[in-house]
Amino acid sequence: MLILGFESSCDETGVALVDAGGTAPPRLLAHALHSQVQMHEAYGGVVPELASRDHVRRVLPLTRQVLTEAERTLAEVDLVAFTRGPGLAGALLVGSAAASALALALNRPVVGVHHLEGHLLSPFLSTDPPEFPFVALLVSGGHTQLMRVDGVGRYELLGETIDDAAGEAFDKSAKLLGLGYPGGPALARLAEFGDAQAFKLPRPLLHSGDLDFSFSGLKTAVRVQLGKLGSNVCEQGRADLAASTQAAIVDVLVAKSMAALKASGLRRLVVAGGVGANLRLRALLDEKCARRGVRVHYPELALCTDNGAMIALAAAMRVQAGLARPQAAGAFDVLPRWPLAELC
Ligand code: ATP
Ligand code: MG
Ligand code: FE
Repeated sequence: MLILGFESSCDETGVALVDAGGTAPPRLLAHALHSQVQMHEAYGGVVPELASRDHVRRVLPLTRQVLTEAERTLAEVDLVAFTRGPGLAGALLVGSAAASALALALNRPVVGVHHLEGHLLSPFLSTDPPEFPFVALLVSGGHTQLMRVDGVGRYELLGETIDDAAGEAFDKSAKLLGLGYPGGPALARLAEFGDAQAFKLPRPLLHSGDLDFSFSGLKTAVRVQLGKLGSNVCEQGRADLAASTQAAIVDVLVAKSMAALKASGLRRLVVAGGVGANLRLRALLDEKCARRGVRVHYPELALCTDNGAMIALAAAMRVQAGLARPQAAGAFDVLPRWPLAELC
């Protein structure tokens, strides 16, 4: 089954063609992405109206690009998938309208996908796909959650952040360090040259005994340290602070993941979302999991952040599990606020 997937929940237009739903493992045939990061950079964050307009400009050229690359035609598409929520209403409507219009023109069904379910299932497109059940660490720009996953649509929330998400902690600290937006990858690059022990930063809720997270205090601690360093902070000082910040975030994520594995008795961990691209997080998880005989799975690096492939894949997996009835095109409603727990 060929699925054309559209992602437009925030500041990335993603389109992908995935072959999935049969007995063979799912296969990504082609995907294309346009990031609006440069456009929003001047404003220090995403401007919703600009985001929607840019999705309109990008969605069809990216679709053509994907079909050309995959050497397929629109007529061969069996199912059209789009991100239904959560996200920016106007941005979501672009993907939904594009998907619904194409589905209508092609006389194909359409499936609306939960963005976080897309992230969560994205490791199934990797060369080392997981098997159910597993503990999932979902670490993105807007979410930090630990879940028990027993199958498609069978998600039990074990813990989550009570304030900022891990990606937000990276981004806000990076902004304080003058690294632009979104700063996660830039902070990680700067951290390579720094000493992670140089600054003592808090590991919030590390010993709270539950599986919740809190990251808002961390950026305050970073601000305090920067204040102490003064305005003429040297390059090494910034690198040391970046390394110490990254270590604080990663330490908490790893410790809570290990606690979730222990509490659930499961021996498989799946990491998903943008922060899953962080190499220090991967290295530490690999080390701890290997020591405990736990298998750990990641999405391909390019599929950690938002993309159309995870949306196409999630649609296929839901249809295959009998959870999503592909609809006739036309009802392109979006759900800007849509907790994963409400998905069934
Ligand atoms: P959500 O999925 O919760 O709606 P989102 O779509 O904005 O949020 P993602 O696209 O999954 O989130 O991830 C983006 C986040 O990942 C940003 O906060 C970014 O800084 C962070 N990120 C990306 N790469 C890295 C990296 N190598 N190290 C740390 N953080 C990273
Ligand atoms: Mg983004
Ligand atoms: Fe996302």
